[in-house]
Amino acid sequence: MKQAEQLTLPLASPPDLTELFRRVFSRLRIKSPITSIDAQFHPFAGLRSTVSVRNGALRARVSDLLAEASPVVIEALAEILLARIFRRRPSREARECYLAYTFRPAIRTRIDAARRERGTKRLLPPRGRHHNLEEIFHDLNHRFFHGEIPPSRLGWSHQFASRILGHYDSGHATIMISRKLDSPSVPRYLVEYVVYHEMLHIRIPVERRGQRRVVHSREFREAEKKFPQYELACRQLKHMCA
Ligand SMILES: [Zn+2]
Repeated sequence: MKQAEQLTLPLASPPDLTELFRRVFSRLRIKSPITSIDAQFHPFAGLRSTVSVRNGALRARVSDLLAEASPVVIEALAEILLARIFRRRPSREARECYLAYTFRPAIRTRIDAARRERGTKRLLPPRGRHHNLEEIFHDLNHRFFHGEIPPSRLGWSHQFASRILGHYDSGHATIMISRKLDSPSVPRYLVEYVVYHEMLHIRIPVERRGQRRVVHSREFREAEKKFPQYELACRQLKHMCA
């Protein structure tokens, strides 16, 4: 499908990112001794961009969803990223320019599509080496939810994350569990508890309190305690994450 791939290439050639970052860097008059700048587009799952400085070398990776954006937008993002790493405040113009771009409906659509497409690859199948998430999900669904939780995509994370043990992505009805829990030393009820927690996110909607979104509302906390080994599981997970 060479031809199809070529058709999806942006019509205008994307700007030279390194050059663009260099320009913004000098415009901001940052005094930090930087010996080299390397900036490239990267196929992140969403609209993510990162910047780091190591031994004087500045490295930036900008979501390739921005490859077609006007240079003004990318310069605004470059300013925001550079300001972040050099502890400055980005200008209001830069922030507004970038934000306005990311809120455009056409861009949101592309971000969602990329998330769906690329995000799926970041999940490992639910049948792990030691625990089977699908089996656990169905079992919990019957034991605690009268089988009413709609089927969701389930999978293990690629990384052995220990800070985030589970995650529910409502956009794609996907539950991801940290692969760290797929171990013979982790008892089944511990995995069950994390899956149960994520299932509660499906059951109990996010509460709105003024400007804040309350994800773990009082109702949520109460429901969590219905899990039989609740306290033991909490203690063990805390221990694991420490
Ligand atoms: Zn949660």
